[in-house]
Amino acid sequence: GGEYKGLRVTVAGLGVSGVPAAKALHGLGAHVTVVNGTAGERQQAEAAELEALGVTVRLGDGTASDSGPAAGLPEGTELVVTAPGWKPSSPLFTAAREAGVEVIGDVELAWRLRGPGAAPWLAVTGTNGKTTTTRMLAAILTAAGLRTAAVGNIGVSLFDVVLGEQEYDVLAVELSSYQLHWAPGIRPHSAAVLNLAPDHLDWHGSMEAYAADKGRIFHGNKVACVYNAADPATEALVEAADVEEGCRAIGFTLDAPRMSELGVVDGLLVDRAFVADRRNSAQELAETADVRPPAPHNVANALAAAALARAFGVPAGAVRDGLRAFRPDPHRIEQVAVLDEVAYVDDSKATNPHAAQASLTAYEHVVWIAGGLAKGAEFDELVAAAAGRLRGAVLLGADRALIREALARHAPQVPVVDLERTDTGAMSAAVAQARQLAAPGDTVLLAPACASMDMFSNYNQRGDLFADAVRAALPDTAAHS
Ligand code: ADP
Repeated sequence: GGEYKGLRVTVAGLGVSGVPAAKALHGLGAHVTVVNGTAGERQQAEAAELEALGVTVRLGDGTASDSGPAAGLPEGTELVVTAPGWKPSSPLFTAAREAGVEVIGDVELAWRLRGPGAAPWLAVTGTNGKTTTTRMLAAILTAAGLRTAAVGNIGVSLFDVVLGEQEYDVLAVELSSYQLHWAPGIRPHSAAVLNLAPDHLDWHGSMEAYAADKGRIFHGNKVACVYNAADPATEALVEAADVEEGCRAIGFTLDAPRMSELGVVDGLLVDRAFVADRRNSAQELAETADVRPPAPHNVANALAAAALARAFGVPAGAVRDGLRAFRPDPHRIEQVAVLDEVAYVDDSKATNPHAAQASLTAYEHVVWIAGGLAKGAEFDELVAAAAGRLRGAVLLGADRALIREALARHAPQVPVVDLERTDTGAMSAAVAQARQLAAPGDTVLLAPACASMDMFSNYNQRGDLFADAVRAALPDTAAHS
């Protein structure tokens, strides 16, 4: 990190990415200026914390926005480190390009700051399932006795791990498409792309650009590129990747696996890929019942995690032990309660149609609560796939009309309640309506297929309010049992 001493670095954005990046750079002796478009309460608190260290902070100058006046690149900037969410079209980056100044993301910076002999990265991306797979992977690595941490997009700063005192054998790194866009130089030991479906296209500009950014995760891989055999777009990324010699392509599949694939046979997770060279036979890794929840998309996540762990040399037994030790994060297909023989499930983290489709199609009869910010997504495929399972739908949020129209086209027989609401209190009304529509044996599923920010602070709050409304309807005895 010696080359950062005295370097003039501009950090674009505060928050979970910018604050740790600014602190890390300041700690290395760089002259840091942080610029941030908005100047709300949280930003002012973060700014005060950084200023107390001696970091310069410029708040609310419009530099982040795509239009309007911008104060431009701070005088003398030699490097820009951006928070992943900033659009490539932001005026700050145009100014940097014109000045010949390099722009990188926080992940790229963390990669460059790794010391000699630093822990290799096992990296995970995809449209959906990233956090779950990364946590499963960390659980498996831990079960194998390795010193590891789940880091990256998961909410744990890479800088803490890269610059901290603690030593690691290997890291499980979740990477978003934004982070990958700004991280051209990372070289994972092995990486997985779980699936590719339209998401964040407003940011990337096109599906091709989005896929290309995801595909960067495979560049420079040493041992294995893991792809989804049921999703040809993920395999195409492996084929396009520039990997190190001897790096293998490993597919995972829920169908009976072929050679060089990890897959499911008769409810067993099996691995031919890493035993194929020695014995032409399959090795049992775990049972699908070891995966929580055992929904098909989640078994696929487990297979991807297993493939990465096996690429790192983890024994089969640790895969099973790790999966058994794994607990899903909140708001990811989380059963809240059973009321009048109806299960209430919180999948608030289903923030795009592809995610919602995975959870909707895991149940037989569903009353679906959906709506929010569509982010440019379309709902036809999702609704057509789920139509036969829908007992009813309750819609809320800014872009609910898009879902209502898709329902009218592909599931005209399904009763729809359009709450016509975009206020936070609408969630308890939605639960009450869903309860009316549900029959014994059904599942009431919050899988919004949309982002939450039109009505809620985030998907956590959205899920919490759903769970609160369900618990409020429980008879006292059940609520306390
Ligand atoms: P991410 O970190 O990519 O957002 P999560 O693991 O947090 O993914 O899961 C988010 C949601 O995506 C889940 O709640 C579920 O609805 C859906 N999901 C999880 N895994 C998959 C998968 N492999 N394919 C499709 N949808 C998935």
